[in-house]
Amino acid sequence: MNIHEYQAKQLLVRFGAPVAQGHPATSVEEARKAAEALPGPLWVVKSQIHAGGRGKGRFKELPETAKGGVRLARSVDEVVRHAQEMLGNTLVTAQTGPEGKQVNRLYIEDGADIARELYLSLLVNRETGRVAFVVSTEGGMDIEQVAEETPEAIHQFDIDPLTGVTDEDANAIADALQLNEQARVDMIQLARSLYEAFTAKDMSMLEINPLIVMDDDSTQVMNRGRLRVLDAKVSFDGNALFRHPDIREMRDLTEEDEKEIEASKHDLAYIALDGNIGCMVNGAGLAMATMDIIKLYGGEPANFLDVGGGASREKVTAAFKIITADPNVKGILVNIFGGIMRCDVIAEGVVAAVRDVGLKVPLVVRLEGTNVEKGKKILDESGLDITSADDLDDAAKKITDAVKKG
Ligand code: GDP
Ligand code: MG
Repeated sequence: MNIHEYQAKQLLVRFGAPVAQGHPATSVEEARKAAEALPGPLWVVKSQIHAGGRGKGRFKELPETAKGGVRLARSVDEVVRHAQEMLGNTLVTAQTGPEGKQVNRLYIEDGADIARELYLSLLVNRETGRVAFVVSTEGGMDIEQVAEETPEAIHQFDIDPLTGVTDEDANAIADALQLNEQARVDMIQLARSLYEAFTAKDMSMLEINPLIVMDDDSTQVMNRGRLRVLDAKVSFDGNALFRHPDIREMRDLTEEDEKEIEASKHDLAYIALDGNIGCMVNGAGLAMATMDIIKLYGGEPANFLDVGGGASREKVTAAFKIITADPNVKGILVNIFGGIMRCDVIAEGVVAAVRDVGLKVPLVVRLEGTNVEKGKKILDESGLDITSADDLDDAAKKITDAVKKG
């Protein structure tokens, strides 16, 4: 689960991280009030969408020359003008896809004078099974390019779960970021705060880009040379959300894929993808294998969907409806190995769903395992136009052929 930048900052403040003052706003009037409540002389007007690259993003409805999704302002009136332009419009960034995302909320923040833009993130290192800090002095809007062209400028530090962030770790991070004096002192504190936030809230990613060192000439004397979290992107481990009601409350359903929301209501493991072959499979491993073999035959899966081991007829029906509701789906492959799951239950679910929503695209079903004969009989006697397949290979061939022909 992802949250907005302003929510991430509100959360990180609770762990002692240095962030600017700011207020969210969903209307121009709120944006004015938010700006008036900040000291100036610099304000930042930031689009709140679940995607990065906003600074370099473009609004669909505005001319090419218009500014991006993160803008600086030098007066309350300028904040208001930006808010008028940005609210309700569609921001397209490198991470939104060409359709972009509508900006329904802004975050109005006290602007900082920047001396340096650094990169810092925390993630789980799958190789060592430890939380790792990833840092670079080359932070800011081009970090993807840095990672590609000069990977040696990116440093990684694994943290021992038994000790947490030690002085040695914090110093190594500060060295890698070439921090001195006050910024160095701040970093040692910040590394501990962020690690604490990451583990306490079961985050899967925490990215601060940029983490800034404030300018020595800053008009805000007390901030000179200090660190500040200027941007924050946080994802949480969905499997741990049950123990974080405060985090669950931050969920913004308008930012999520409708099909994924519907799937989560039925406790289905579903992820929307870009292809055109809808898949309904039981077991994550079989689902992955099914997607692989579809690709092997030149097709592209439209989704990952694991209906689980003991799915009921209702669950199968819901899953089938989610797949058929996707206009990109040009063919469906049902691939079930009946173990705990019984083939006749799957067949009943498929038939019920087809009766309910109709079937406008080819459907290939491969059943194997418990009650397979019963399941096949239900499908045969349904009178529906279903192609049955003998094994995974046959199934993948049949569905990719059918989609290519269609
Ligand atoms: P992103 O483009 O979605 O990653 O949004 P960011 O929050 O990272 O903002 C993009 C860029 O705007 C940053 O890299 C900064 O260069 C600039 N920016 C954001 N906040 C401030 C600020 O308070 N002061 C100044 N001078 N620039 C800022
Ligand atoms: Mg950023």
